[in-house]
Amino acid sequence: MTTSLLPVVGGDLRVPLVTGGTVPYANLDIAASAPALGSVAERVTQFLPYYSSVHRGAGHASAVSTTAHETARRSVGDFVGARPDDVVQLVRHTTDAFNLLATAVPGEVVTLDVEHHANLLPWAGPGRRTVTARPTLAATLAALDAELARRPAALLAVTGASNVTGEVLPLAALVEIAHRNGARIAVDGAQLVPHRRVDLTALDVDYLAFSGHKLYAPYGAGALVGRPDWLAAAPPYLAGGGAVRSVTLDDVAWADTPARHEAGTPNVVGAVALAAACEALASLSETTQVRHEADLRDRLRDGLAALPGVRLLRLWDDETDVLGLATFVVDGHPADLVAQFLSAEHGVGVRHGRFCAHPLLARLTGGAPAVRASVGLGTSSADVDRLLDGLRQLLTTGPRWTYDADHLPVPD
Ligand code: PMP
Repeated sequence: MTTSLLPVVGGDLRVPLVTGGTVPYANLDIAASAPALGSVAERVTQFLPYYSSVHRGAGHASAVSTTAHETARRSVGDFVGARPDDVVQLVRHTTDAFNLLATAVPGEVVTLDVEHHANLLPWAGPGRRTVTARPTLAATLAALDAELARRPAALLAVTGASNVTGEVLPLAALVEIAHRNGARIAVDGAQLVPHRRVDLTALDVDYLAFSGHKLYAPYGAGALVGRPDWLAAAPPYLAGGGAVRSVTLDDVAWADTPARHEAGTPNVVGAVALAAACEALASLSETTQVRHEADLRDRLRDGLAALPGVRLLRLWDDETDVLGLATFVVDGHPADLVAQFLSAEHGVGVRHGRFCAHPLLARLTGGAPAVRASVGLGTSSADVDRLLDGLRQLLTTGPRWTYDADHLPVPD
């Protein structure tokens, strides 16, 4: 029996069933957005009285807001082992981080074709070179190496872990390949950072992007952490107040990073929350967290694999570390109806669709939507069992209710 490891906001939520009554919500959609930790909510509540003009006012609350914002920035950098001269850009999310980095890269970018759209679309254009993932991870690494050796690139941009299959990529090997070929490396940490510790200094990773809302903090706060020079030379990501040293009607002297790319009033509450989440995870033993999630993952994946007609999606044949998630298709049952059934009759929340990774889904399912269940700090084995029991019912007696695919548009 695995119980929740840390309290999360909404951990006691009850949801209505279409068949009548309510049940505790089994939130198996952690990989999309994780519920805030209780300690994150407390930190936000403590901060709210100081809600005031940040970086601009002389009042006490304003000074506290400014300090809270800059302390949060340091805390976020510390959590990912930032080097002393790294810049910590506070952004909205991973998508924002890569769009910012895309304005700063002085050359071509190599990616894999299995990336989330956030790490594909910002590089779109003649400067993007996409390597097709091979059937094994080893062959995929060799293909990346060959592509970087064939023609120099400024950046290798890869995910740390797939949001579809949960497979974790070997960062040390990727860093070695990039650097040996004269490229820098940017890691999409949206899925990895909430579940495995990533140390930029130890790994020599150049850039890391991640999102607060997947890291047990609220939406709208994320980070791009990494080498300062390209970002210092790039044009400001947003033009406006806060990003300048001086302005005349004819000229602007732009500020240095991080202010250079953070024009406008920043999301201080989000930064405070993100820092609180980073600190909560840093104070939790990684071994304890990984064991908790691995127990739930094994229960989930083994349970799914034992169900006839359920196929788990996987990219590589080699043994890799896998995060606490499982994406699957059920023979004869479209993903949208499976997700709707699990919610309506069992109170289980999952994600369905193509996971903002259309090229990857095209390879794995021919483009058909799939269902993803994912676990985290607030998940218990009872949540996983409810999903498995629900699917067993679907495959034996079938749903009790009639579902209408038109009422549940397939998300992106
Ligand atoms: N990369 C990966 C691997 C993700 O899972 C996600 C979120 N689904 C993103 C990038 C984008 O994150 P966000 O929507 O927070 O920008």
